[in-house]
Amino acid sequence: PVLRVAIMGLGSYGTRVAEAMQTCKRAKLVGVISGTPAKIKDWQSKYNIPEKNCYNYENYDSVKDNPDIDAIYVITPNGLHHQAVLRIAAAGKHAICEKPMAINAQEGQEMVDACNKANVKLLVGYRMHFEPNTLEIIRMRNEGELGKIMFFQGLSGFKIGDPTQWRLDKELAGGGAMMDIGIYSINGARYMVGEEPIWVTAQETKTDPIKFKEGVDETIQFQLGFPSGAVASCLSTYSMNHLDRFFLNGDKGFAELQPSTGYGPIKGRTHKGELMKPHITHQTVQMDQMAGIISAGEKAVVPVDGAEGVKDLKIIDAIYEVCKTGGKKKLDL
Ligand code: NAD
Repeated sequence: PVLRVAIMGLGSYGTRVAEAMQTCKRAKLVGVISGTPAKIKDWQSKYNIPEKNCYNYENYDSVKDNPDIDAIYVITPNGLHHQAVLRIAAAGKHAICEKPMAINAQEGQEMVDACNKANVKLLVGYRMHFEPNTLEIIRMRNEGELGKIMFFQGLSGFKIGDPTQWRLDKELAGGGAMMDIGIYSINGARYMVGEEPIWVTAQETKTDPIKFKEGVDETIQFQLGFPSGAVASCLSTYSMNHLDRFFLNGDKGFAELQPSTGYGPIKGRTHKGELMKPHITHQTVQMDQMAGIISAGEKAVVPVDGAEGVKDLKIIDAIYEVCKTGGKKKLDL
């Protein structure tokens, strides 16, 4: 069966997902939810979307009575994900939600609980979990080719422009660079090391307190410790372009990805040579795989469910806390 999806939030990433879905085999874009009638008209003609599958933010609870939509993909600003997923669950539809799934772990857990209670699936848009060179490193690690994993470095950043955008608004973004781009290093540390961290330390620096207001982080360095003794050292920033690098080292060898989380091609090498997996459009593969997870109970190599999203948010909550208090905080994921 094909997973019939409506996209909520027809902005820049929503548009990218819609384009990528045109070549999906198991997922199909069939509906939209938007506050802008002109965008709805445009998408209707571009993607052949029937009027009865078009909603706005006031009336989309009635998707409950629409048998032609299976899932809703939330691609709005971070601070709006929580309420949207609760409403989608109440309407009995599966939810796919962009990262960060919410702006703190408590909200994330409420979303997981609501979807469990409604017996619908909740998945988070972790597209790297389906990226072939990333999966090749995970395979090598699992088969012992890197030896005992000792160290991960994650560098995630870009230079943010327009100071009036929602990404620099605490209410809508939930924070700053950490919520938006640093989360790639957090999530990456977990899937590259292959363990859940047990402690975190973090330090925040700000060069522009006018652009980056209270509660909106510009640059944060953080360190994670893992049960095996492996450690991670990461940087999240809104002040450097082309910062997108993962480096993993074990006692036998290394793996590196640069770029590591951009839209691709993702490039990398290990002590054995260059990684050669072909580039695929991340969002196309993600949506086909998610269709399999939702409709056929398939499993991803690295999970993309709500519980996975909550783990990243617990780490982000702890990072924000230790940036203020200093010291080292234990994590219980
Ligand atoms: P965007 O600003 O381009 O689009 C956001 C959309 O939400 C717009 O169409 C806007 O009209 C709509 N919206 C609805 N209510 C709004 C409100 N109250 N205030 C502002 N906008 C409102 O942003 P984007 O880059 O598309 O990001 C959207 C989400 O997608 C974010 O959560 C972001 O983290 C995520 N994202 C994920 C990836 C990825 O690679 N997985 C990439 C980019 C963005």
